[in-house]
Amino acid sequence: MSASATTSRRPVFYPNPSPSAGEPFLRGHCSDLGDGPVTVTPCDTGGDPVQLTAADVCPRSEAEPEEGVADAASLAFLNEPSLLDNIARRYAHDRIYTYVGPVLLAVNPYKTLAELYSREAMDAYRGRAIGVLPPHVFALADRARRMILSDRRSQSIVVSGESGAGKTESCRAIVDYLAHHSREEAEDLCTAMLSASPLLEAFGCASTLRNKNSSRFGKLMRIWTAAGGASFSHSSIETYLLEKGRVSNHAPGERTFHGGDAAPHNEASPAAEFASVVSALGALGASRGEVQSAAQILGAVLLLGNLHFADDEQDKAKAEGRARDGLARELYERLFGWLVRRINTSLAAPSAAPAAGSTAASASGSVPARASAEEGGSCYVGGSCYIAILDIFGFESLGVNSLEQLLINHTNESLQHFFLDRTMRAELAMYADEGVPANDHTLVARFFGSHREHASIRLPDVILASGRRMPARKSAPPDGTRFVVAHYAGEVEYEASGFLSKNLDALHPELPLLLQTARGSLRVRGLAGGFSKQLESLMATLGATTPHYAAGCLDLPLVLEQLRCAGTPQLLQLMGRGYPTRCEFEALASRYRPLLPGFSPTLSSRDFVAALLAALRLEPATAAKPVADFALGVRRVFFSAGAMATLDELMHGS
Ligand code: ATP
Ligand code: MG
Repeated sequence: MSASATTSRRPVFYPNPSPSAGEPFLRGHCSDLGDGPVTVTPCDTGGDPVQLTAADVCPRSEAEPEEGVADAASLAFLNEPSLLDNIARRYAHDRIYTYVGPVLLAVNPYKTLAELYSREAMDAYRGRAIGVLPPHVFALADRARRMILSDRRSQSIVVSGESGAGKTESCRAIVDYLAHHSREEAEDLCTAMLSASPLLEAFGCASTLRNKNSSRFGKLMRIWTAAGGASFSHSSIETYLLEKGRVSNHAPGERTFHGGDAAPHNEASPAAEFASVVSALGALGASRGEVQSAAQILGAVLLLGNLHFADDEQDKAKAEGRARDGLARELYERLFGWLVRRINTSLAAPSAAPAAGSTAASASGSVPARASAEEGGSCYVGGSCYIAILDIFGFESLGVNSLEQLLINHTNESLQHFFLDRTMRAELAMYADEGVPANDHTLVARFFGSHREHASIRLPDVILASGRRMPARKSAPPDGTRFVVAHYAGEVEYEASGFLSKNLDALHPELPLLLQTARGSLRVRGLAGGFSKQLESLMATLGATTPHYAAGCLDLPLVLEQLRCAGTPQLLQLMGRGYPTRCEFEALASRYRPLLPGFSPTLSSRDFVAALLAALRLEPATAAKPVADFALGVRRVFFSAGAMATLDELMHGS
C-alpha cells in the first residue's frame, strides 16, 4: 500500500467488514479526511490498510478517559462510533447509564446490580441536580419530581427502545423511586403503585424470542399531585393495544400471556404464581367474588384453548374452531380491561383525596379526565399536575409485519418526532439561556430544516431470479399486498393481507349472545381508528408536559441496533447541527492550565478559556455567523462538531 497510508496519523473509526464477528466499528488511522477515497491503517488487527470513502470513516479522539465520560456531549467527537465506544468503556465498569445531552441511555446489564437500586441510592439522588451524581434513572425521576413541585407543571418520562432493552425495568425503578419518596405523605398510594406493575405484567406480558417478560401492551402511568401541588395524591394507568391475538396464536418458541399460560414462565410453580396474583389482587382491594370471577374467566380461556372440534361428515366443524379463538381473545381482553379498571380504582382511592374541583378518578376506575387545558396546556383544573411515565412497545421489525407492527411503529415514529421537536426547542432555549449569540433564524433553519416530518412509503424491491434486488418502478401497478415504510429506525416491509379483518376486529355473529352477561353492548370497532384516537390523546398528554427521556439499550453487539431504534443517531445529527459538545469553563481551565503554566494565571476560568481560544485562532460565534467553532455561554463553552478535538490536538501539539 502507499507510503502515505502507513505514515498517516489521523485517528478514525471505520465499519468492521465482518460486524457479526463482534464490534460494529474498528479503530484505525488515516490520511486527511477529504472528499475522495481514504486509506485506513487498522490499529488493533495489524492487518493490511483498507481503502474506504470519507463517508465511511468517523474521526476518533485518542484522549478520551479509559472509563468513559458520564455525558457523551462532552466527547471530543459526538458521532455514532464514539458514542458506542463510550458506552462500552462505561459498561466495562458496570456503569450502565450515560447521558447524551438531554437523554439518559441505559444498557441492559442482564444481572442484578442491587446497590444501584438500593434505598441508599434512592436517598442519595433526592434533591441532587442532574450531573452531580453519576447518571441514573433516579436522577431523571428526581428532576421530574423536583420540577413538578417547584414549577407546578406536568412532567413526563418517556422510555423508548427495542424489545428486551429494559424499558419496563426502567419504568419500575422510576415508580419505585417516586413511591419511596412519597411514602411519608402517601403510604397507601405507594403500596398501590407497587402492586400494580407485577399484576399488569402477569396479565399483559409474555415470553417471546427477545424477552422472557415482554410487555405486549403500552402503558402510561400518571402520578398526580394534590391540588396545590405539595405532594402526590393519587395515580392512574392507561393501557394501549393489548396484543390479544397472542391468546390463540404466537410464533414458534414464544408463549401466550403469563396470565393465560398453563405453564410457569419462571422457576415458580403455576400454583405459587397464581397465589401471588391472587394476593396482589387482594392488596388492591379486589373482593373474593371478583377474584373468583377473574379465575373463572381465565379457566374458560384455558379450556377454550384445549377444545378441538373434529371434522364431521359435512366438514362443518372448522368454522366453529374459528369462533373459539375469537371468543378466547375477547374474553382475555375484557379481563385485562377489568384488571386495569380495578387497578385504577385502588390507585385513585388513597386516603389523601384531591380537593373538590380537581380531577379525581371516578368510582368506576376510569382515568382522570382532562377538564380543560389551561395556558400551555400543562396544568389542570384545581392546580393538579402529574408525572407521566410512558412504557410503550418498542419499534418492531419481524419476519412478517402486520397491522399491529404498523401501529406500534407508527406510535414510535410519532414519539420520535415529538422527541426531536422538543429537543430542538430545548437546545435553542439552552443557547438563549447561556447567552450564546445563536438563537436566530439561521440556527432555527439548521435545526428544523433537517427534520423529516413523515416516514416515507414505497413498494418493496423486486427480487430477480438471480437473487438481486431491484427497486420497484413507481409507475408499476402494485401487484401484491406488501409495502415498505422507511421509519426513522430503518425500513420495514409490511404485509397488508389480513389488515382489514384485523382492523374490523369483528366477532363471530353469535358471540355477542354468548357474552350477554357482559356489561355494555359489544361493538365492532376499528382497531386502527380506536388506536389512532388513543395515540392522539397520548401525544396531547405528552405535549402538555416537560419531557425527560430514557432510552434502553441491550448488551453489545446489539447496542448499535438498539441505539438506532431508540432514534439516537438522529439526536446526534441534530445536536451536531448546533453545538454538540459543551464543557464548563472550570473543567476546561483545569485541563489546560497545567499545560500553560505562564499563560495568564490570574484570569478567571472563563477569561482564561476565552483568551486561549482566541490565541489558537478558533472562530467565535457572532450574531452574523451564529454557528462557528465555538460560542461562549454563561457557564460553559459550546463547541461545534469536532472543534473541541481540534483544540485538544493544538494543545497537545499533535
Ligand atoms: P419489551 O419491549 O419486550 O417489553 P422491555 O424493554 O420492557 O422489553 P424489560 O422487560 O424491561 O425489557 O427487560 C428485559 C429483561 O432484562 C428483564 O426481565 C431483566 O432480566 C433484564 N433487565 C432489564 N433492565 C435491567 C436492569 N436495570 N437491571 C437488571 N436487569 C435488567
Ligand atoms: Mg416491557
